[in-house]
Amino acid sequence: MGFAGKAVIVTGAGKGIGKSIALTYAAQGAKVVIAEKDPSLGETTLAAIKDFGGEAIFCPTDVTRPEDIQNLMAETDAAYHRLDILINNAGIGITKSPYDLTVEEWDLVLNTNLRGAFLCAREAAKIMRRQGGGSIVNIASTRAFMSEPNTEAYSASKGGIVALTHALAVSFAADKIRVNVISPGWIETGDYSQLREIDHLQHPAGRVGRPDDIARACLFLTDENNDFITGANIIIDGGMTRKMIYEP
Ligand code: NDP
Repeated sequence: MGFAGKAVIVTGAGKGIGKSIALTYAAQGAKVVIAEKDPSLGETTLAAIKDFGGEAIFCPTDVTRPEDIQNLMAETDAAYHRLDILINNAGIGITKSPYDLTVEEWDLVLNTNLRGAFLCAREAAKIMRRQGGGSIVNIASTRAFMSEPNTEAYSASKGGIVALTHALAVSFAADKIRVNVISPGWIETGDYSQLREIDHLQHPAGRVGRPDDIARACLFLTDENNDFITGANIIIDGGMTRKMIYEP
């Protein structure tokens, strides 16, 4: 219960990696704020935490809406009177040729992934500095560093998150707020048993990633004992981005 009494916001906590992160902090004794735009998904995560006796609230939040983010921070402050940890996890992607991607589609991806992370960090930091410090983890992607075709908006947003992280780490340092980023590779959030052997074996680690691989890294980065780590990017991809590929 290393995080007992800590208040933690997780954006996009309704499913996938965000849900795993929310459950992991709750299991460690933290008070979790589920910031999710889909009410049924948010309620599902809340019920899963309550099921094992954890502490959480659900605050409906669309991170593209600055007013929702203001409300998220106000609700967190009202419920727990503090905020120790923010996990900027909410994210979307659109796969479409750069010749056809519209301004609206570009803006939706950037406003969700990058502007949303910035606004959440800015507003969270106002509470954190009041109490003498805190910790922020942004979730980027290995797609900040490598690409498949037709992923311009997503890749740009994730590259932006990596840069945003070191900028905020330096700006917030005086307020004892650490800011780090995790760049996941392939993290299977669906039916893990449906994966093929080739899916696993193309990873040097021998397997595809799972949401809890990312959740444990969040615990590590936000552990107060690790207060020498700020502005860091941890790539968690089973070694995929380190592997050279040549045709045999
Ligand atoms: P999912 O799509 O499974 O979950 C994302 C969650 O975020 C959903 O609950 C979604 O709700 C929510 N969300 C989307 N838009 C918003 C918004 N505007 N405001 C609030 N919540 C929102 O994604 P993953 O779990 O796979 O990914 C989580 C993060 O990890 C993302 O940032 C993603 O880019 C990143 N990532 C994932 C990888 C993977 O392999 N899974 C690899 C690398 C990075 P709704 O369903 O209603 O849209």
